[in-house]
Amino acid sequence: MFRMAAEGMLPRDIAAEANAFDWRTKRYVARRTGRESGGGLWTPRQVLTLLSNPVYIGRFSYKEGTRPGTHPIIVSEELFEQVRLKIAARRKLGKNTKTPVKRHSFFWSLRGKIICPDCGRVMSPHISKKGVIWFRHYRCRSFAGGRAPCKGSAFPAYDLERMVSDLIGEMQFPASSSGSTSLDQATFCRFQEIWRTLDESGRDRLLPKVVSKISFDRKTSTLQVETDDAGMIEVTNEHSF
Ligand SMILES: [Zn+2]
Repeated sequence: MFRMAAEGMLPRDIAAEANAFDWRTKRYVARRTGRESGGGLWTPRQVLTLLSNPVYIGRFSYKEGTRPGTHPIIVSEELFEQVRLKIAARRKLGKNTKTPVKRHSFFWSLRGKIICPDCGRVMSPHISKKGVIWFRHYRCRSFAGGRAPCKGSAFPAYDLERMVSDLIGEMQFPASSSGSTSLDQATFCRFQEIWRTLDESGRDRLLPKVVSKISFDRKTSTLQVETDDAGMIEVTNEHSF
């Protein structure tokens, strides 16, 4: 969540990703009454509270500031500070301009690439909202080709995008690719070197160029990623000096 926030995602969108990812809030049991609470879906408010909590950098809120704790540190102070500045800057922007802060538009790096395992048609981006909580999925409700609407599948978008992105960094030469342009091994290696240096948002921006098709095999539970040779060559050239 801190990494998403550092990339500029809004608490609302982080909550949507977290929920799509099946992450849940911390579960508490009240010591006196034994009553359970928490363990539910993330709201933007809860995400914001989490992002401002110094407990993740090994400290506790204390009076006006913080004091050190002895518990493990799971977020670097650098990342924590980056997020704090992002939140502060947005708060200032919201106050100065009377107009509401521009709505973060979702970016679907695998739009049009995913083949529905149930009907073989292309899955579409889908955002849903329950209360204040957003969910981002690729799903299939296609009725193209005059057939009955597919009751098919939905995949959490963030989860799938990260998985595909990681696979691209790890694939072997020659890759399963489409396109007539031949990609030689040297360029392929150079491409992967570049890919490994990119952060999440950098990869997201390039995924539409690099991926041509994603399909699933339900029987073997495998994910097949087909890459685009021409796109990979383009990315390599753009990032070479
Ligand atoms: Zn389908």
